[in-house]
Amino acid sequence: MALIVQKYGGTSVGSIERIKNVAQRVARFKAQGHQVVVVVSAMTGETNRLIGLAKEIQSHPDPREMDVLVSTGEQVTIALLSMALMEMGLKAKSYTGAQVRILTDAAHTKARILSIDEENLRRDLNAGHVVVVAGFQGVDEKGNITTLGRGGSDTTGVALAAALKADECQIYTDVDGVYTTDPRIVPEARKLKTITFEEMLEMASLGSKVLQIRSVEFAGKYKVKLRVLSSFEEEGEGTLITFEEDAMEQPIISGIAFNRDEAKITVLGVPDRPGIAYAILGPVAEANIDVDMIIQNVGADGTTTDFTFTVHRNDFTKAMEILKKVQSAIGAREVKGDDKTAKVSLVGVGMRSHSGIASNMFKTLAAEGINSQMISTSEIKISVVIDEKYLELAVRVLHKAFNLEQAA
Ligand code: ASP
Ligand code: MG
Repeated sequence: MALIVQKYGGTSVGSIERIKNVAQRVARFKAQGHQVVVVVSAMTGETNRLIGLAKEIQSHPDPREMDVLVSTGEQVTIALLSMALMEMGLKAKSYTGAQVRILTDAAHTKARILSIDEENLRRDLNAGHVVVVAGFQGVDEKGNITTLGRGGSDTTGVALAAALKADECQIYTDVDGVYTTDPRIVPEARKLKTITFEEMLEMASLGSKVLQIRSVEFAGKYKVKLRVLSSFEEEGEGTLITFEEDAMEQPIISGIAFNRDEAKITVLGVPDRPGIAYAILGPVAEANIDVDMIIQNVGADGTTTDFTFTVHRNDFTKAMEILKKVQSAIGAREVKGDDKTAKVSLVGVGMRSHSGIASNMFKTLAAEGINSQMISTSEIKISVVIDEKYLELAVRVLHKAFNLEQAA
């Protein structure tokens, strides 16, 4: 007998029929003798619908009221799923975040979980209930409803698995696992049996949107065994997210992530002296704009240098305005921007012990006439910023060059 936490995303509970399907799957696990905690998202589209309603009234909706509003989506699904389970003859009981007491900080719309009181859940589980918990929501110290940020039900699932010391946390979604890259771009993309936490974090933060990043961090920190599976298939092992030391054999490259939303800003002719990076990026940070890649060259003439960084495309206009001011303040020659860029990254823990990966990547891109505008590397990742219009081509040729369609 195992204790399993299963999280079902919005599409998996998107209609009454699908909710009944989820109930059937849960029943199968119960029949095998397992204890099951189910975490559900709102029905697909519901959270967006609620946010839309709020914005018809307030252009910047009050955060506390927003959380009261959007948390209703999950409250609907926990009740419906519990009813569906009861109809199948199972004992089931729903809990909102506050009822469990998933205690969070008070940062409305992006709260962090502080603690979980698992007492009541455990009692119900031991009494043979399926426990159904609303994802995405919690409660702060003062009793205000909070939410955990978009996609936050994943984090609820992982956090409950950690608190209950569950044997496994299964994330059911509309894809059957984590792929080497997006199959819509590369039809030969292959489902991975395993991927390490570190790689998954890179894949997620680089734009492969299978899991909320925070849930992966959480699972890594608390050693929760995490598996991504499809709720639309009867069988299948999905993808297990593992620790590097547990992984049997590691391919050199596990996957290719990409991000279309990069915009690049270059400050030319920057005085080459201490404090300049801060003078450029300080005001950007103050405006709450996240900076991704940063590159500064050596000053060729010993007096000036060039400074390039990327931001999310949505922040591009605002960042350019800030930089125009910075330019005159620090006496830089020119500021140039390009919001038609994209980032492609190779990810793999095997890079640590293999050389030649970067050169193979650049050779492959060059053969297609794709210019690498910016390059950055970490221990398990190489990222290149390229012209947006070559993104799909780049992903395809790299996938082939590194033989990702073949199992390692
Ligand atoms: N319903 C929330 C959202 O759409 C939380 C989730 O689905 O994980 O972001
Ligand atoms: Mg999701």
